[in-house]
Amino acid sequence: MPWMIGTVLKNLFSTPPTRRYPYEKRESFAGSRGNITWDAGRCDMCNDCARVCPARAITLKPEKHLIEYDPLKCIYCGTCAETCLQHAITQHPLYAAPQAEHASRITEVHHYRY
Ligand code: SF4
Ligand code: SF4
Repeated sequence: MPWMIGTVLKNLFSTPPTRRYPYEKRESFAGSRGNITWDAGRCDMCNDCARVCPARAITLKPEKHLIEYDPLKCIYCGTCAETCLQHAITQHPLYAAPQAEHASRITEVHHYRY
């Protein structure tokens, strides 16, 4: 057992290798693809984002001026944000908090450009 003394002393005086989550949160990595948000003032309801979404997480309802986004279907690929020519979609580095219930996020679009 005396051969363990070095390891025990080292562990006693070293900082822990893990974070004290949730008190210490990790910064997002550069280029992280997370939460999706819409700037309704820029959107012209062209439907491109819904058309390219591989997870079918976006539904446009032009007659109601609504964009419906389902975060539980979204795979955070960023294709919608890259495709939008109006730059109406922003992808943030942080993920949305987990949800207990299945609820879509709905964005109202009031500023038609056509
Ligand atoms: S968010 Fe962009 S791609 Fe989607 S409907 Fe609006 S303008 Fe078109
Ligand atoms: S990030 Fe990808 S999966 Fe999520 S809404 Fe945009 S295109 Fe669809």
